[in-house]
Amino acid sequence: MRAVTAAIRMHDRFLLTTHEHPDGDALGSLLGMHLGLQALGKDSVMYLPGSGPIAGEYQWMPLDALVRTPPADQAKRVLLALDCAGAGRIGDPVALERAPLILNVDHHHDNTRFGTVDLVIDTASSTGEIVFDLLTALGVTITPEIAEPLYVALVTDTGRYQYSNTTPRALRVGAELVEAGADVAGVFKKVYESVGFPKLKLLARVLDRAEQYEDGAVVISWLVHTDWPDVGAGEGYSEGVIEHLRSVEGARVVALIREPPFRTPVQRRVSLRASDLSIDVSAIARQFGGGGHPQAAGFTSDQTTAELIEAICSAYVAATRGAA
Ligand code: 5GP
Ligand code: MN
Repeated sequence: MRAVTAAIRMHDRFLLTTHEHPDGDALGSLLGMHLGLQALGKDSVMYLPGSGPIAGEYQWMPLDALVRTPPADQAKRVLLALDCAGAGRIGDPVALERAPLILNVDHHHDNTRFGTVDLVIDTASSTGEIVFDLLTALGVTITPEIAEPLYVALVTDTGRYQYSNTTPRALRVGAELVEAGADVAGVFKKVYESVGFPKLKLLARVLDRAEQYEDGAVVISWLVHTDWPDVGAGEGYSEGVIEHLRSVEGARVVALIREPPFRTPVQRRVSLRASDLSIDVSAIARQFGGGGHPQAAGFTSDQTTAELIEAICSAYVAATRGAA
């Protein structure tokens, strides 16, 4: 913590980035940190490499300053990676090579420690919680504009303060953010209750196709690339859909296999969730080259949907063998 705050005090130009397919924690940390650095008089640029869409539930966030190509002075900016468990999660490998200094701020237990300085706190509910601590340590006044994105980070990564990472500390930081001006009902309305109608239709397909395996302990569903145009959904519309599968009685591991929207699949993205603290789905994801948290993880694969279903079930059986 001290090494990161010292580096922030010492430097003037920053390039802030986060992982591809950014979620609420990724975008909330990015924006909160950006505004906090600006409040300190720093020159900060938010950079999300590539052209992947921002999920619909976060499009209301004031992210107009976000750039999708690196700034010309990239090599002179301290790279601050937020919520990235590994270098590969940053969509621009060159950014790491060019950076004079890399600050790696994250809460994934399997973070690969790719930074010059690594601030990895796996007991933090979210990267947003760590950003709150950093800004507080730096003496930044938490304005409503800073509080709200950080609140988005906490509320989304804790599953609206319901998942096992909902620590007393996460609740206290949430309370401080609300005191500082984060609009609880407003964020709820914008993130959870402004779902585009086509997203409801995508969810319907996911629920309809869901199958139980291993006596109901594993629930898997999938989306094919034509689902998005069929229901009129944009690319980011499948974000969060998996959470609906984990509510099923008896389900211990749930998976959603997604083909790339609109494109003939070469690779599929697999999201995994555990509803049970005794199973670590990040260990399963790592077997397939991915990673994540014990309760929420993912990976990308070139196997077919049928092959993936079989592989996930086998991995579940292997993971629980002897434990039951
Ligand atoms: P989601 O299923 O929402 O895409 O991701 C859930 C969690 O798994 C996130 O915390 C994310 O960091 C992690 N995750 C998803 N895909 C990957 C991946 O390909 N590699 C790694 N290391 N982590 C992933
Ligand atoms: Mn996170």
